[in-house]
Order: sequence, then C-alpha cells, then structure tokens
Amino acid sequence: MSIEIRNVSKIFNGFKAVNDVNLTVPSGELVALLGPSGSGKTTLLRIIAGLETPDQGSILFNGVDTTRRDVREREVGFVFQHYALFRHMTVYDNVAFGLTVKSKKNRPSKSEISDKVHRLLKLVQLEQLAKRYPSQLSGGQRQRVALARALAVEPQVLLLDEPFGALDAKVRQELRRWLRKLHDEIHVTSVFVTHDQDEALEVSDRIVVMNRGKIEQTGTPEEVYDSPANPFVYNFLGNVNLFHGRVHNGAAKIANISIDLPEYRQVPDSAAVAYVRPYDIEISRTRHSSDEIEANVRHIQGAGAVARFELERLDTLEVIEAELTKERYRELDLRAGDKVFIRPRNLRVFLGDYQI
Ligand code: ADP
Ligand code: MG
Repeated sequence: MSIEIRNVSKIFNGFKAVNDVNLTVPSGELVALLGPSGSGKTTLLRIIAGLETPDQGSILFNGVDTTRRDVREREVGFVFQHYALFRHMTVYDNVAFGLTVKSKKNRPSKSEISDKVHRLLKLVQLEQLAKRYPSQLSGGQRQRVALARALAVEPQVLLLDEPFGALDAKVRQELRRWLRKLHDEIHVTSVFVTHDQDEALEVSDRIVVMNRGKIEQTGTPEEVYDSPANPFVYNFLGNVNLFHGRVHNGAAKIANISIDLPEYRQVPDSAAVAYVRPYDIEISRTRHSSDEIEANVRHIQGAGAVARFELERLDTLEVIEAELTKERYRELDLRAGDKVFIRPRNLRVFLGDYQI
C-alpha cells in the first residue's frame, strides 16, 4: 500500500506543527521521519493513522483519499514508544487481542487465531514466552510483543513512533537490526519516527528529514548523509565542523583556503559557511602548504575504532573536531598540547552566515 501525503498542514493554537508537507511513501518501503523534538513527526504520523485530522491537505492510500476515513477503516498498525501492552493479559492474549475483538462476521476461528499468533510469535522470536505476562518481560521483548500485536490484524501500513526510544542503547541497536530483518521478510509499508540519526541511517530505505513542521530533505541514507541539501541536514546528520568565510567572483575564501565555485559566479560578495566532517580533517606535524590552518591539540580520545581529536585553531580559537584512523594516529604520535597543521577536505559551502 503506497501512502501519499498532499499539502498537509496542522495548526495547534495558531502554531503550525505540520506545514504544507508533501511526501510519497512507495508500497513496501520503510521510511524514517527523522528530526529534532517538536519538528512535527508524531503529528504527521498521527495524521497518516487517522488519529488526527489535518487542517489542510489530504492523505491517499493506494491513490484513494482516506483523509475523512476513520482510523479503523485505514488498516494501520501502530507501535508507540511506551509499550501499551495489556498488563493483565499474557503475551499470547495481547497478540491475539486485535483478532478476538473483530466482529463475529470477520473474526477468525479459535484455531486460526492460535495458528496466527504462534506464527507471529515465531517471527518476533518470542515463541517460548507466550504464557508470560508483560511484567515478566524485558523492555525489548515487550516492544517485540507490541509489534506482533500490531501485525496480527494484517495492517496495510505499519506506523512506529520512536518504538525503541525508551530502551537502553544496546537493546535499541539489537532491535534496529531485528526490525530491518523483519521488514525485509514482510515488506509492509512502514513509517518509522525517530530523532536518532544512527537509527534512521541503519534501519530505513529512505529518510525524510523534518524541521519545524517542514521537510528539509528526502533521500536514501547515503544521499542525506553524503549530500545534505542544506546546513540543517548537515548538522543534524553527524558531527560537523563549521568554517566561516566569504564567496566572491565564483570562489570561496575559507580561512586561507580558496575553492572554485563556478555555480556562485553570479553571487555578489557574500558571507558563506563551509561544512567539513571530522574524518575529512587532515592533520600533519609540519607545514606542507600555505593553505593549512595552525591549531593546537586540546584533547585526544584514542579508545575506539578511530582516534578523535579536539583541536583549537590558533587564528580564531574555534574548536575543530577531527577523526584519524588508528594507523595515522600512531604514525603522528600526537599528545595534547602539540601544535599541528590541519587541512579540511570535501568542504561543502553554503551561502549565508549560519551558526551551529
Ligand atoms: P515531534 O514528534 O517531532 O517531537 P510533535 O508532532 O509531537 O513533534 O509536535 C510538533 C509541535 O506541535 C510541538 O511544538 C508540539 O508542542 C505541538 N503539538 C503537538 N500536539 C499538540 C496538541 N495536541 N496540542 C497542542 N500542540 C501540540
Ligand atoms: Mg514525537
């Protein structure tokens, strides 16, 4: 089932929580709505579910307008951050719930329900725990029950609102992989809300980056990470360093570096910022060219897959974050207090004077 969101807006007390959003989720995709708290993700998800009515615009399921359709008719499965399992029911009964409350006409037989619940519990790897109560499960197991329960009624669309948000980091990471695998098996069109960039990058086919009720960029994880459309997306997805400079006559001057930018030839002298990922900062002990920037090593964190450096520019006193491979770190043999020369690569220049 494809989902089409057309010019959807939602206003709460004069505040535009969702501001003229357009988005298509192709059938079978897992899409992440990623953005900071308050950016309108939950509101948009609730509008898709039919739990909230938009003030403007429409929602189409497989090309059919469902905007005025009741939640029940939309056939959506919902999983929230705070697992709303029935505490007095076993795992089995929780998963079976949506089937047992169907009208007599549509209700499967007892044995059909039993088959289905066991199939679902197998899918979420909880077969052994069918007789337990929610209080006897870990947080991660409860969320898997919630997911099985949402899937029991065979929803056309699965909506997940920060489903792993209340779990600790390790469990969260496990469940991410597990959700990805599950989606590869069942291919139900899914919209997954998160404010966690790593989660969005790891789980989804496509990421929709939201900010202040609007979509900043839509793309595959690689597209949004490697080619951010604007400074907001650059900042939000991953660590980044900011260099202030100017653009003039089709070239940017950032610190003592000059970069040709033919696309900005028509732009009059203007402030600009350049963004550089920490792994794109080269460090050396001696100067090789005049465009390198002098800095002091303030702090080194050598534990982990890469070595992380906090550097302070001598000219502006701004802090630069850098990451080096372990090999390069050993080769350079650096300590806090050492003077170095840095050279940023892959600078992305945007006009204007943004601050992080
Ligand atoms: P997110 O899920 O991205 O954190 P939300 O969609 O929950 O964002 O909220 C977006 C904005 O709308 C927030 O400023 C929030 O306070 C406001 N908002 C959400 N729901 C309501 C509501 N029922 N009444 C008033 N304001 C709301
Ligand atoms: Mg939310």
